[in-house]
Amino acid sequence: MLPEAFLSRMRQQLGEEYPAFLESLERPRAVALRFRPGKGAPPELPFVTGQVPWEPMGRYYSPDARPGLHPFHEAGVYYLQEASAMAPVTLLDPQPGERICDLCAAPGGKSTQIAGRMAGQGFLLCNEVNPKRAKILSRNVERMGVSNALVTNEHPQTLARHLPEWFDRVLVDAPCSGEGMFRKEEAAVTDWSPETVQMCARRQGEILNSAAALLRPGGRLVYSTCTFAPEEDEGAVAVFLESHPEFEPETVAAPWFVPGENGSCRMWPHKLLGEGHFAAVLRKVGGEEREIGYQAGERLPKPWETFVRETGISLPNGQGVTFGSRLFWVPEGTPELKGLRVMRPGLELGELKKERLEPAHALALWLRDCANTVCYPWDSRELAGFLHGEVLPIHRRGWCLVQADGYSIGWGKGDGTVLKNHYPKGLRR
Ligand code: SAM
Repeated sequence: MLPEAFLSRMRQQLGEEYPAFLESLERPRAVALRFRPGKGAPPELPFVTGQVPWEPMGRYYSPDARPGLHPFHEAGVYYLQEASAMAPVTLLDPQPGERICDLCAAPGGKSTQIAGRMAGQGFLLCNEVNPKRAKILSRNVERMGVSNALVTNEHPQTLARHLPEWFDRVLVDAPCSGEGMFRKEEAAVTDWSPETVQMCARRQGEILNSAAALLRPGGRLVYSTCTFAPEEDEGAVAVFLESHPEFEPETVAAPWFVPGENGSCRMWPHKLLGEGHFAAVLRKVGGEEREIGYQAGERLPKPWETFVRETGISLPNGQGVTFGSRLFWVPEGTPELKGLRVMRPGLELGELKKERLEPAHALALWLRDCANTVCYPWDSRELAGFLHGEVLPIHRRGWCLVQADGYSIGWGKGDGTVLKNHYPKGLRR
């Protein structure tokens, strides 16, 4: 049951399209996932049904399937993401080598999509203000094998003070009244009220002010919501442009979406296979890029070098840093982040334990291959046993990367008779 106040607003907003809109809310929703880009084409999976037109790696899947339970999900082969929710990153158009900030990032759908487009090159800052949600974000960034992203847990204003005009692109996927998610989440309906819409619009204005400060002249800002409320969509953009003459709307060619004023467009559930969304693309005028000092990398300790020699792995552009006994690889060009709450400084390489290196699960998920690898079919007894935490009866020595159909999923350590299980206890089935 949808609130009468909401229905009456929609009737007014949509006019003669209102019955088609209402009817679309009665239909079962389309479900989708997005593959992590890899060397070859994504795997062919029986539950995948069609292409999401605006995201090359996006696919619809059959509503009876449970892809979240498939081992490929844990291996970061794909991310379950609503199809319309893939649109803002298409409009942001991230490029390898850029500096990008996803300001309201948890649980990480758009961050991991941006990372896919950056192909491991450049610097991605994924920020989430809510500490619990920031942990989930970190976990998803790790699961999707991202090497060039940091996760922070900060208020947007704090980030803006630390990194003024630093980013080439900023995404604000704002907290909103969630009207576009009414078909997907019951809580979105029960939490809704006209007052929520007003409160969200105020908060969105504040977040946009911080986003404006983070963006360099010439950079692109994408603002998106999953609500139909004009106060939070076109209204929020109009208020922003009034107080920020340094921004102008950009015209974006996106034939799947309904274009609106000020560089905005709408995704309507009665016009495409997806939920309700809104996005606007704005540009900060000017074009001079500001130089900023880089933090110097450390030489990583000997056990890491031994591990690299034994496994034959090579890391992307970046630098090593240590936090206590833990080793991380931070993207090239990472700015000074002292004073910020950093949840994940980069790709976790491993932990030093008594002068030995124990490789991190995150490293396994990022790696495509290494010198010592064992691969099982995704539906094999052995892989199911590994995901349960069982020892594998194979004669290997040293750290060994375990794969499901060629997709890395965790570490085992061989002593010549069995492979000890190092799949994280918290993830075991
Ligand atoms: N971009 C995410 C994705 O694709 O997975 C979804 C983001 S969700 C729509 C909005 C996020 O903004 C939430 O995680 C919420 O915790 C966060 N948020 C709430 N209040 C905020 C504030 N004042 N400033 C910044 N972010 C806020």
